[in-house]
Amino acid sequence: MVELSGDIHEGGGQILRTALALSARTGQAFRLVRIRAGRARPGLQAQHLAAVRLAAQLCGARVQGDSLHSGQLIFEPGPLRPGLFSADIGTAGSMTLLLQASFWALAAMPESCEVEVRGGSDVQWAPPLDYLEHVTLPLYRQLAPIQSLQTTRGFFPKGQGRWRFRVSPSGLSRPLELAAPARWDSIRGKAVAGRDLAERRVAERLAERASAMLQAEVQMEYVRSASQGAVLTLWAEDPRLNCGVGVLGEKGKSSEQVADHAVELLRAKMARKEPVEEYLADQLIPLLALVGGKLRCQELSPHCLANLEVVSAFLGPRIRNYGSLLTTRPYELVVLVGLQGAGKSSYARSQLPQHRLVSKDLIRNNSNRQRRQLKLIEEWLQAGEPVVVDNTNPHPEDRLPLIELARRWNAPVRAVFLDTPRELCWERNAAREQPVPEVGLKVVHSRLQAPSLEEGFDEVIRL
Ligand code: ATP
Repeated sequence: MVELSGDIHEGGGQILRTALALSARTGQAFRLVRIRAGRARPGLQAQHLAAVRLAAQLCGARVQGDSLHSGQLIFEPGPLRPGLFSADIGTAGSMTLLLQASFWALAAMPESCEVEVRGGSDVQWAPPLDYLEHVTLPLYRQLAPIQSLQTTRGFFPKGQGRWRFRVSPSGLSRPLELAAPARWDSIRGKAVAGRDLAERRVAERLAERASAMLQAEVQMEYVRSASQGAVLTLWAEDPRLNCGVGVLGEKGKSSEQVADHAVELLRAKMARKEPVEEYLADQLIPLLALVGGKLRCQELSPHCLANLEVVSAFLGPRIRNYGSLLTTRPYELVVLVGLQGAGKSSYARSQLPQHRLVSKDLIRNNSNRQRRQLKLIEEWLQAGEPVVVDNTNPHPEDRLPLIELARRWNAPVRAVFLDTPRELCWERNAAREQPVPEVGLKVVHSRLQAPSLEEGFDEVIRL
């Protein structure tokens, strides 16, 4: 039985939702205590209870503690059973959040499944429907096809929205490659408002304002809804992912103020070097564990940290956390040290085939090879790639800038010292097509000092 405590990190509903879906997917039972202990109204609320009931349907789970305000839950899943599922939150609790409690299990079903959820579509503290559609789902499709079939909006306080979606069996999944900076090339958006707000031209005003400020194509739509409400979603597009914001209309705020706020938020997110914005990051953690790959996030939020722990409890420690970089792959900077002819390049080729090789010898026609090399290393580390530096790097002064660069990008840094006898190195050099002149050999030999942990390396290997 997986034991979890609901008060870690964000201390909210996300721990529960991720646990439900991964429990149903993997067949591992769990006990969750102190449910939402970090919230003002702790325990299971309507949305969380609906999440429990939905996940239980997917796998015929036996459940204890599934009542409103319960602070403890035991969930014992059976085998996954495909079918048609439904969940009604009964309040304006977010129906988009129910995806977090079901998708990871639905994606493992042998047949297509349909789910109909009811509740709020665009409410506080949850992904708005258009954000989900344009930012989250395109990436979830790297695990399994998911398609929205029908939507009815539900705003606070009545909710009564409806979302029907289908998840089809997973084909070949694609790893996430979301670490290198994005190039946002176009911006789009959607403004949605309840019909009651048409007289005040709320959707038009949201769309026109955002469109004019961002040179973006912003669609607008009036919808039938039980409570009146409005939402503006904007997203910037890169071939790999979208960066989005969803902002709800508020009493006492003009449509223009809502649009200005959304534009400001989007611009701030687009200006960041890390491609994955805060909300998207936490929604991608289980996906990253399942499909592998890497992502660099703008904020490692408490939601992310909570999700990392839950994912690790069910799937093992697949994701390594290097600050803003989350990756399932090796990530480090290896600094080779050794005389010319010591065997550094052969070592890099045979022992570190996955590492990006950077060497001043490969940088021709550049007046400042040192600067260029540091820039290349930085670009690879930023993109979450492991790097090996294949130069002689004989002196601590040569190695210091490399160690500093690794620290800046939170990469573990190792020195590999090829301590090959001088005579052998010089013999090998002489046999080369283009031997290094003797003076070059002597300079490196005179400066050579064995690397040490005191310099700041996390590990030193001497061969
Ligand atoms: P509580 O525990 O108070 O009930 P909750 O369970 O309703 O909270 P949280 O645990 O806070 O919800 O999780 C909220 C989820 O919604 C997170 O995945 C977060 O990324 C996402 N989210 C919140 N606001 C937005 C937003 N504006 N846009 C996109 N996603 C959002």
